[in-house]
Amino acid sequence: MEPINDKFIEMVTAKAEVDLRISDFAPVSMLNVPTHEISRSKFPAIDYHNHLDAQNPGEVLQIMDDCGIEKCVNITMQTGEKAFEIHRKFKDSSPDRFETYAWFDWTDLDSENFWQKSVERLEKYVEAGFCGIKIWKDLGLTLREKNGELLRVDDERLAPFFEKAGVLNFPVMFHISDPDAFFLPIDRFNERFEELAAHPDWGFYPSHFSKDELLMQRDSIFKRHPKTTFVCAHLAEKSENLAYVTQLLDENPNVFVDIGARTAELGRQPYTAREFFLKYSDRILFGTDLVPEIEMYRLHFRFLETADEYFDYPSHASRQGRWQIYGIYLPDDVLQKVYRENALKLLKR
Ligand SMILES: [Zn+2]
Repeated sequence: MEPINDKFIEMVTAKAEVDLRISDFAPVSMLNVPTHEISRSKFPAIDYHNHLDAQNPGEVLQIMDDCGIEKCVNITMQTGEKAFEIHRKFKDSSPDRFETYAWFDWTDLDSENFWQKSVERLEKYVEAGFCGIKIWKDLGLTLREKNGELLRVDDERLAPFFEKAGVLNFPVMFHISDPDAFFLPIDRFNERFEELAAHPDWGFYPSHFSKDELLMQRDSIFKRHPKTTFVCAHLAEKSENLAYVTQLLDENPNVFVDIGARTAELGRQPYTAREFFLKYSDRILFGTDLVPEIEMYRLHFRFLETADEYFDYPSHASRQGRWQIYGIYLPDDVLQKVYRENALKLLKR
């Protein structure tokens, strides 16, 4: 065999841009495999996790009609009178197509009787026809009391709130913590480096409570309030580790999970994800957590319904990580439950 000569190496490296910046790297796949564009979901779908406060209901409806979305659940990020205004705006526009989740109100945390007031607010949301209430990740990461103490997720003063939610059959959604990578240094080993570099404030390293600790606090609530229904947004924040979610669902029959903004994670582990969907088809909710757009919905359908390989996942403007996803070709009965029936169970109160 002839030795590789220096002249050849020189020629090749001269042509390649060896100093290409990672942010400029945009490889085009040469893979030639079947692709299926799914324009409408195979069955009517309920988007159980979205944020529509800033959207025009009529425009959202048009997108829903184009894609086969029967209902959209708006998790309002407003509190107080504004939350009720948002609820009315969407209900007035189309009462059967929009539902509203309330947002736990911490604004008067330092006031007297705050915990009792939280229970009373809950009752008002139920009366007004909201369909659930969400507790966000500021609990456990940033919310502090007057004395400077960080609030714990499992703070026992919240117990009457969870008990009341159980009595009123009103689901409580938790979004506690975030992806694993957000709790690690933003360095060259971080698999979501580009996303975190674009949004450094999304990183929590080093946090007061570790992610494991935050989830442990959250999970203890499910056991303490077995008669209350909980929805863990974003696959309980453990889409990187479906064995964790499996155990969580096995141990807590009162817990559901939504898949909002986690198609990227699920689609890069298609064998594990498919098995997970088949096993927990009664407990998984379709949700997107992305601004309603036709292409965004279609990518979700392609992921859930087809066996397509190596395609872009739906995402915000900034990508979550540098990988492609694979479809998990769910059978019809599973699709019907995930798209619609599980959500209807929670909406019917
Ligand atoms: Zn969300």
